[in-house]
Amino acid sequence: MLSSGRFPHGHQSRRAAAKERLDVLMVVAKAECGYGRDAEAWLSSHVFTCPSGHLYIVGSCGCPTQSAICPECRCYVGGSDHILGPGNRLAHGEVAQLRAEAGGK
Ligand SMILES: [Zn+2]
Repeated sequence: MLSSGRFPHGHQSRRAAAKERLDVLMVVAKAECGYGRDAEAWLSSHVFTCPSGHLYIVGSCGCPTQSAICPECRCYVGGSDHILGPGNRLAHGEVAQLRAEAGGK
């Protein structure tokens, strides 16, 4: 569901790409966590990466209870019984990097 759009190289377009991806994450976060709760904090505990580093979101409690195939690299993502599949992990660094790139500082 996260697009990896083709942007020409360059600082400005990289920022635009980061902002677009972050916007998508925030839309999902706000829809999932509801109003009055911190969507940014929600993202920190619900965004994961596949073994190849593609971001995906686990809804509800943030525990993986479903597995799927990454649409970009065909790797196994998610998990079962609240245990992440091999190579999957929380995307703390990636989310922080998107924020830094999109933040325009
Ligand atoms: Zn992937």
